[in-house]
Amino acid sequence: MDSDSSTLTGECFCGAIAYTITGSVFDARSCHCSKCRKAFSSQASSYALVEPGTFSWTRGQDLLTTYESEPGFGLAFCSRCGSTLCGLHNDQVHGITLGCLNEDPHIEIGRHIFVASKASWEVIPDSVVQYAENSPE
Ligand SMILES: [Zn+2]
Ligand SMILES: [Zn+2]
Repeated sequence: MDSDSSTLTGECFCGAIAYTITGSVFDARSCHCSKCRKAFSSQASSYALVEPGTFSWTRGQDLLTTYESEPGFGLAFCSRCGSTLCGLHNDQVHGITLGCLNEDPHIEIGRHIFVASKASWEVIPDSVVQYAENSPE
């Protein structure tokens, strides 16, 4: 595999924390539930999975703060600027927030879930794949 062309990098808003991903990111999804709105400070989450063992922190890991939202599941964010960088499952990085990527990951959000819970002010185009609640896996 050509590691140069497939390497992605990401960083938080203030730049103190950075990471690299040597594999692809996949299964991009956006969750519109009320919890994700607050967790991502946005209309929805924008999240994609990483292949196990392909993610590593390259800068500022000591500034990471984690929040466990459910047993075994959590988010890691920058304690300086507040950017949410990744999702954790049993303390392992299992996905990244698309907004913190520096490069084009060459994927699009493939499904919008919990659309029935979306904020009244959000307008979702009819053309996207959407589910009222969770999508069938
Ligand atoms: Zn930061
Ligand atoms: Zn959600």
